[in-house]
Amino acid sequence: MTPEGLARAARIVADSGLLVVSSGAGMSRESGIPTFRDAMEGLWANFDPQELATEEGFRANPRRVWSWYAWRRDRVMQARPNPGHFAVAELAGIVPELVVVTQNVDGLHAAAGSRDVVEVHGSIRRVRCLDRGHVFSGELPVYAECEEQDPPPCPVCGSPLRPDVVWFGEMLPVDAVERAWSLAGRCDTMLLIGTSGTVWPAAELPLVARRAGARIIEVNPHRSELTHTADVFLQGPAGEVLPALLAEVRRLLAASTSTS
Ligand SMILES: [Zn+2]
Repeated sequence: MTPEGLARAARIVADSGLLVVSSGAGMSRESGIPTFRDAMEGLWANFDPQELATEEGFRANPRRVWSWYAWRRDRVMQARPNPGHFAVAELAGIVPELVVVTQNVDGLHAAAGSRDVVEVHGSIRRVRCLDRGHVFSGELPVYAECEEQDPPPCPVCGSPLRPDVVWFGEMLPVDAVERAWSLAGRCDTMLLIGTSGTVWPAAELPLVARRAGARIIEVNPHRSELTHTADVFLQGPAGEVLPALLAEVRRLLAASTSTS
């Protein structure tokens, strides 16, 4: 990121009414959350994603899929939000309206204090039953290393519990997607953080926002498929760029208060 880019981005943020933060895997990398592909390692390296992240795979081997997610959930529960997550939560306190739309299933935006988070791919911190969709969060069974577990039965209907995440071939949650689209269509600014631009629908949101006249700021360590849509590209990891952006926005707002 350059000082000029940071200043331009801060001006755009400071002038925004509705700011939509659209985040992907890069947002959580500094918290040590493995990406889906990174999680296919060690004990799980020999499995096919089709076996671990589809309903078909779950029905064929519920014990294996449940155990893989229990292992991932364990790692997520031990992870902490990074300075990027905290900066987003603090930004919400100084702009008129801020909503986070995330592809991440780790719940770290909420853990950092963000109150309005739209989870388009669900959350690994929740489970729901396979047959009737009863959803549960809170205390979940802990994964014991090397000890596979059967998915527990739904306390309401008895069907097996599965993670409340979107698997391959599944529809995204309708409410979340509708809200994300509507926010993209009426935001003043979209802040893209750590998205590759290749995963739908996150790839489409900045295009919707752009058509509706929004400004786009991208924060990424490397140029992405979406960089051509951005008004400002701030190169660097989220945990460094976002606190710098927050400080610059604060400075601008303080200066405008003292001169008015
Ligand atoms: Zn149920």
